[in-house]
Amino acid sequence: MKPILYIVVPCYNEQEVLPVTAPLFDAKVGELIEKNKIHAKSRILLVNDGSRDSTWEIICNLSESNSRFCGISQSRNRGHQNAVLAGLMEAKDLCDITISIDCDGQDDINAMDYMVDAYLDGCEVVYGVRNRRDTDTWFKRFSAEGFYKVMNWMGAEVVFNHADYRLVSSRVLRELANFKEVNIFLRGMIPLVGFKSTSVYYERRERLAGKSHYPLKKMAALALDGVTSLSIRPIRIITGIGLFIAVLSFLGVLWSIAMYIAGRTVSGWASMVCIVCFIGGVQLISLGIIGEYIGKIYLETKARPRYIISERTGNDKKD
Ligand code: UDP
Ligand code: MG
Repeated sequence: MKPILYIVVPCYNEQEVLPVTAPLFDAKVGELIEKNKIHAKSRILLVNDGSRDSTWEIICNLSESNSRFCGISQSRNRGHQNAVLAGLMEAKDLCDITISIDCDGQDDINAMDYMVDAYLDGCEVVYGVRNRRDTDTWFKRFSAEGFYKVMNWMGAEVVFNHADYRLVSSRVLRELANFKEVNIFLRGMIPLVGFKSTSVYYERRERLAGKSHYPLKKMAALALDGVTSLSIRPIRIITGIGLFIAVLSFLGVLWSIAMYIAGRTVSGWASMVCIVCFIGGVQLISLGIIGEYIGKIYLETKARPRYIISERTGNDKKD
């Protein structure tokens, strides 16, 4: 039995690029069906993430003119991760495999062939990994690669240079649905679900149209969110720093006593002030990091819905 594939595409203010990339996704699904790799019921699920432009109208028109397209709309902008999750959760009961991909054409859709092949070979998760970043600016490359390194160092297990372009089977998605956290970071959560996985390498291109929604500020927020959602290593690091400073201060005290006995008391106003300031700074940073976790707990206990679907296109209404 050939698997039914749903391509899940988050779209936020993408009226320029969606008309360019939607036919490409359609052609790819057609090609895979022709090659007998996937079922003819395979579809493209476009997730409107509360766009303020005409993205939703474009999605509605696409689904009216071509039954291979369907769409859902989030009640407001909730961010990329929530949009992808909404699409995956919507798709999980309708298909056997999903591939999530951005709608800007940066990720090479030809990698989907290899992803489906890997699935047919028995893998439940296939990560799309960028093998080159030549088309990104120097700064984007530097910050993005730094992102993965910092993430891993902080204890959040992520696949290096893998964003949210991946194949996930509905079996894995059903397990993922049991991860109830509100702060979602799919890149870190999917490896936690487990199952047999592999990677497919592809070249990342430039956006076909429109502009990026991920400036440095959002990327830093995503990294911080990722680390604090997945690992408590920062708290351990604080403990380590605390211990180190404590040992250092103890040695300092011994040294001062020795100096006192030797009769060479230091007139150490400056060093006193430095130490007090330093410790004050360390304490504030530490409080901030701990606060970050408490904030997470606060958000988790409220258990608000992770996405709210306000509209669906005509096809595939579940109810
Ligand atoms: N996106 C979204 N909600 C947002 C921001 C972005 O659904 O709040 C979508 C966007 O439409 C695109 C994908 O997430 O399909 C990746 O965004 P973008 O290309 O701007 O990020 P970059 O590739 O530059 O990191
Ligand atoms: Mg992009």
